[in-house]
Amino acid sequence: MFIRFWGVRGSIPSPPTTAQYRNKLRHVLKLSNGKTFESDSDADGFIESLDDSLKNLLGGNTTCVEIVANNTRLVFDMGSGFRELGNHLLHSADPLTEMHVFISHTHWDHIQGWPFFKPAYIPKYKFNFYSPHGNFQQRLSEQQEFKFFPVSLNFMASRKEYMDFDPESSVVINGIKVTNIELHHPGKSYGYRVEYEGKVFVFATDSEYNNFTTSKFMRFIDFFQGADVIVFDAQYSFDQEMQRVDWGHSSAFVGVDLAIQANVKKIVLFHHDPDNDDFEILNLFKKSQMYKQDNYPNSEMEIYLAREGLTFNL
Ligand SMILES: [Zn+2]
Ligand SMILES: [Zn+2]
Repeated sequence: MFIRFWGVRGSIPSPPTTAQYRNKLRHVLKLSNGKTFESDSDADGFIESLDDSLKNLLGGNTTCVEIVANNTRLVFDMGSGFRELGNHLLHSADPLTEMHVFISHTHWDHIQGWPFFKPAYIPKYKFNFYSPHGNFQQRLSEQQEFKFFPVSLNFMASRKEYMDFDPESSVVINGIKVTNIELHHPGKSYGYRVEYEGKVFVFATDSEYNNFTTSKFMRFIDFFQGADVIVFDAQYSFDQEMQRVDWGHSSAFVGVDLAIQANVKKIVLFHHDPDNDDFEILNLFKKSQMYKQDNYPNSEMEIYLAREGLTFNL
């Protein structure tokens, strides 16, 4: 099972500002320490030696994660990162022209990439949409009403199928089992558990876990149980989370607690707040590592920070 992240921000696309770029540049220049770079490979070597936070951008695109398994492509959410996936498919002449698209919910940050996804305008591409919300076709069509976007959904030449996918049910696609669960978010969001050849991936974004009873927690611990990789909504710092009750998002600390109880191997902090810059998000990541070390010193679970281009091979 191959996993690739195309969009990791929450709420709204948030490209880096000039001030943020200069801030990174300042850090890099200090580290260059008078070095001179004769060739591109010299410069590349230095860049590679930098900390992850300096050699990469987390990226400003909203949520989209791709999975390829058993020659089948699954996509989770069509935020603005979905546009990048479309461009990649066209540039790489990828032979897989059918994809199965699972939607957490239809807040803008999770569907806004669709009208800009170029393969959607090409007849040979086929999309099978899965959304437990039930009226997904209508929602997608409304996003492209003429007053919001110049091209209607019907005008997009690809083939589209809107599959029945009841809440809390499963579907099997070419041997890949996908199960959904309702998350706690305004207007409802759905999480997905993907199982293939003994490997488990969980996509659980846009959810809050405040004021939960033990049985409610257990429901999620069961759903996350034994996952090799879980993508978790860690939009806020713990303090922000306490101030923003009922906003429908969570923090890394809650994610660490839940994931460790569910025997998860790797948790990926996801749906970064658009108002937090890369350094602030990296700081939350370091705090989550300290939290894990303090509270679960014997746990071998690994914590990752979602960034555009991050991949896993399970
Ligand atoms: Zn969102
Ligand atoms: Zn949302």
